[in-house]
Amino acid sequence: MALAGFTGNGSLWDGLNDLMKLYRELDDAIAKFIEGSGLACPVGCRICCDTQATKIEATVFELLPQAIIACHEGRASYWLNMLAIAQGDAEARCVFLDHNLPQGGCSIYHCRPLLCRLFGFAAVLDKDARPLPLVCRQMKTADPEVGCHAQQLIDDGVVEVPISVYYASRIAAINPTHGQGLLSINEAFRNAIQLAGLYLALAGSDSGGRPHPDGDDNSPHTPPFGRSA
Ligand code: SF4
Repeated sequence: MALAGFTGNGSLWDGLNDLMKLYRELDDAIAKFIEGSGLACPVGCRICCDTQATKIEATVFELLPQAIIACHEGRASYWLNMLAIAQGDAEARCVFLDHNLPQGGCSIYHCRPLLCRLFGFAAVLDKDARPLPLVCRQMKTADPEVGCHAQQLIDDGVVEVPISVYYASRIAAINPTHGQGLLSINEAFRNAIQLAGLYLALAGSDSGGRPHPDGDDNSPHTPPFGRSA
């Protein structure tokens, strides 16, 4: 996914292309793991997303691409309202979950954060650095042997499984300021919108991400997204 119109003109944008490259690399690694292991999500399943948003964590940096898109499309206020509604509800879901979508339900599939990409297709390391795949409950229900089978293939070196901590540490290295420190997905997105809005305002763009026509004037630009969490 290209972040058209947003070039690296400052520290906030730095690393965004590296983040998208890392997502592509991870998508390739997951595709190979799926092909080699036979693991797959049940068609149309969205159960992993349909849980409290507080259980789904991401860094602000991972939500920054979607926040920039929201600003660019002039939809930052829409999302901030959605987030404000969700904030008071302990059962609130991720604001990107859309049950009307036929596949999966994620409305930001190409920009979804790391945890959402890794869920069901990644491993943790045990004390001997042995990868242990975290197989989703729905996959195990569909095929109780699938976890053992995947573990055997990994142990035998037949397939490589993405290691969660490896990708998380790379994101932290790309952007040490905003690429670490996990928040609930909705909170991370709210912070990302506020950050992107503030940055665009200071850079002389309007809330849609477009440069001011008189962008080099000396008038103060009010940050468009001042609502606190
Ligand atoms: S961002 Fe997408 S994949 Fe992740 S929890 Fe929200 S709806 Fe699900």
